[in-house]
Amino acid sequence: MNKKEIIEDFQVEYKKYTFSKSIKVTLKNDNLILVTMPYFCPYKTAREFLIKNFEKIKSFKDIENFKNTKGAKKYSPNFTTKFDTLKIIPSNELKTITKRNIVYFYYNKEDDFYSLKVQNELKSAHLKALRIEAGSYLTSRLDFLAKKYNFSYRKVFLKNQKTRFGSCSFCNNINLNINLLNYDFDIIDYVLVHELVHTKIKNHSKAFWLEVEKYCPNYKELRKKLKNGS
Ligand SMILES: [Zn+2]
Repeated sequence: MNKKEIIEDFQVEYKKYTFSKSIKVTLKNDNLILVTMPYFCPYKTAREFLIKNFEKIKSFKDIENFKNTKGAKKYSPNFTTKFDTLKIIPSNELKTITKRNIVYFYYNKEDDFYSLKVQNELKSAHLKALRIEAGSYLTSRLDFLAKKYNFSYRKVFLKNQKTRFGSCSFCNNINLNINLLNYDFDIIDYVLVHELVHTKIKNHSKAFWLEVEKYCPNYKELRKKLKNGS
């Protein structure tokens, strides 16, 4: 004999177990909450326990959803970017302001920092900071390495992509992913060298990798790190 009810946008299921010693609330998925309780515990008591902890349970839902969003990550209040162009500031409202190439992210101290609302706003503020940093660092670093190793390319485009870190077109335009800024400097250099070598060799032949190795002797290790997301 199970009891069910709907609370806000959750389906709640109560189950009694002979051997259960306490009331336990489990978030089964985005919409289902399971409440288990000892056999002799009244439903009313279990329900009161659930209501008392409902806000906490809902915040788990936010975090779960956030983890499930592809490419999303959980930001902490002391998150920083490579060149420190993102400032996270406790305030009394949620807003993002960009001034002289610095992104100021204000959040309401009363809000849960890990709620979807705050995390999503911070995600777009982070993207703004990445664009600023990519615009100054990636372009000048590519230019520096091209001169150093004697490569030439036409134009560089900065993009926010989910899968590729860089590419080189048939006519030697180079695309770079702004998310590269989330990686170490040596990994960034490897990607830049990789695309520069593509201006001369369009495929991934043995000759291509030998050329990459000339400028980036530990490219195998860096490539592995890039794949593992570190
Ligand atoms: Zn390639």
